[in-house]
Amino acid sequence: MTWETVIGLEVHVQLSTKSKIFSSASTRYGADPNTQACEVDIALPGVLPVMNLEAAHLAVKFGLAVGAEINRRSVFARKNYFYPDLPKGYQISQYEIPIVSGGQIVIEKNGSQKTIGITRAHLEEDAGKSLHEDFHGMSGIDLNRAGTPLLEIVSEPDMRSPAEAIAYLRKLHMLVRYLDVSDANMQEGSFRCDANVSVRPQGQKEFGTRTELKNINSFRFVEKALQFEIERQIDVIEDGGEVIQETRLYDPDRGETRPMRTKEDAHDYRYFPDPDLPPLQLSEQFIEEVRNELPELPDAKKLRFIDQYHLNPDDAEQLIISKDTADYFESAVSSDVGSAKTVANWINTELASYLNEENKTIKESPVSADMLRQLIRRIQDNTISGKIAKEVFKAMWAGQGSVDDIIEQKGLKQITDNAAIEKIIEEVLAKSSAQIEQYKSGQEKVFGYFVGQVMKATQGKANPQQVNTILREKLKSSSGR
Ligand code: ADP
Ligand code: MG
Repeated sequence: MTWETVIGLEVHVQLSTKSKIFSSASTRYGADPNTQACEVDIALPGVLPVMNLEAAHLAVKFGLAVGAEINRRSVFARKNYFYPDLPKGYQISQYEIPIVSGGQIVIEKNGSQKTIGITRAHLEEDAGKSLHEDFHGMSGIDLNRAGTPLLEIVSEPDMRSPAEAIAYLRKLHMLVRYLDVSDANMQEGSFRCDANVSVRPQGQKEFGTRTELKNINSFRFVEKALQFEIERQIDVIEDGGEVIQETRLYDPDRGETRPMRTKEDAHDYRYFPDPDLPPLQLSEQFIEEVRNELPELPDAKKLRFIDQYHLNPDDAEQLIISKDTADYFESAVSSDVGSAKTVANWINTELASYLNEENKTIKESPVSADMLRQLIRRIQDNTISGKIAKEVFKAMWAGQGSVDDIIEQKGLKQITDNAAIEKIIEEVLAKSSAQIEQYKSGQEKVFGYFVGQVMKATQGKANPQQVNTILREKLKSSSGR
C-alpha cells in the first residue's frame, strides 16, 4: 500500500512588543526569573487586563502580508486549564473570532510553486515556564514569560511531506522577520511549532486520524520528528491497529515521539468570552495605516531582483533570505547594475562562508557593502585579479583597512605591463626546456604548468589574460623555429 502524508502546522510566534499583551511588564528575554512578572501576569485577585494595541498592530501586519481577512471585531476568550505555570487557571486567547482569518503562503516545490492555506491567526498570551533541572525533586516556576504576546498561526492540512512542512516553516519564519513582527529566534522560543500529522492510503479522500507533535525546536527536528511519526503511524495501521488522536512529545536525544496526553477537545477547555476584556475593534483607518507600512515582501523582492538585476532565480532566492542580505546586495550594487551578478556571487559564496564560519549575521560583517563594491571595482578596472581579490577580502575581514590601502600595503597591484610580463615568461621558459619539449610533442596540458610558474614568480599578480596571450605567442614562435 502506498501512503500519503497529511500535515498541518500550528506556529506560535512571539510578537516583538516592548511590554506584555495585557500588562506593562517588560518582555525582554533573559532577565532573572520572576523579575518581569507584575500583578496582572501572576493573576493577583482584582487585577484587570488592558490590551496592548501594539500586539494587534503586529497581528494585522502579518494578516495583510499573507492576504488574509482582518476581522474588524475579534473576541478574547478564556481557555481554561490547570498548569502550575499558568497562575490564572486560564489562558487568554481568541477562539470563535480571531483577529486574522484565511490567507496563504506560497512555497517552492521542485521548481514549481504550491500554495499552503492559512486557516487563522489569533492573539493569545504565553504561559510561564516550569524549570526542572536545577531543583532536585522539585520544579521551579519562572513567570517572566507569562503574558508575553503570541500570534498562533494555524495552517490548513495542505502539506504532503516533511519537506513541504519545512519549506512552509522557513517561508513563514522569513516573512515574520521581514515584517519585524517577531525576531523569530527559535533557541529563545520566539518561533515554536506544533506539527499535526496523519497518513491515509493514496487516493483516499478522508483524512486519517492525526497526532500532534510538540517540543520541536529546530527546523531539523521538525523533519526528524515528522519522519519518525509517519513511519510509526504506517506501522500501527499495517499491523492492524489504529492511530489514536493524541499529543506526542518529540525526544531529540532518542529521535522518537512518545505519547504525552490524549488530545483534549475544544469543549474540555470550557472556552468563553473573557468578561474582563471588551471585543477588539479595529477601524478602517488603523488597518489602512498598517497596510501603508508593509515593506516589500520576499516574493516580490525576488521577482524584482530577477527582473532589475538580471539574476537567475537561485541567486535571487539566496539574496532575499533576509531583508538585511537583500539590502546589503542592493547597496553593494548601487548604480552599477552591470556588476550585479558578480556582487551576488561574492555575497552568496565568499561572504556567506565567512559569516557562516564565524556565526555572524550580515549586519555584523566587518566587510561592508561599500567595501565589497570597491573590491569589485578594482577587479573590473584590472587593478587586481579575482584570485588576489579573495586575499584582499580576507584582509578586509580581518580589519586591515580599505581595499586600496590593502592593495598598496601588500603590493598586490596586478602586473598589466606587457613588457614586464613578457620578461617573466621568458625567464620561466628559459628554465623549462623539458616542458617545452613535452608541449611541442602535443601535450597541451603542459600549458597550465607554464601559467602556474609565471603566477608563482609574480605571487599571483600577473594579469591572467595577458599571461595566456603572451605565453601562447611565445610558445608558438618557439615551436615554429
Ligand atoms: P485543534 O483545535 O484541536 O488544535 P484544529 O482543527 O484547529 O485542531 O487543527 C489543528 C491543526 O491540525 C491545523 O493546522 C490543521 O491543519 C491540522 N489538521 C487537522 N486535521 C488534520 C489531519 N487529519 N491530519 C493532519 N493535520 C490535520
Ligand atoms: Mg490547536
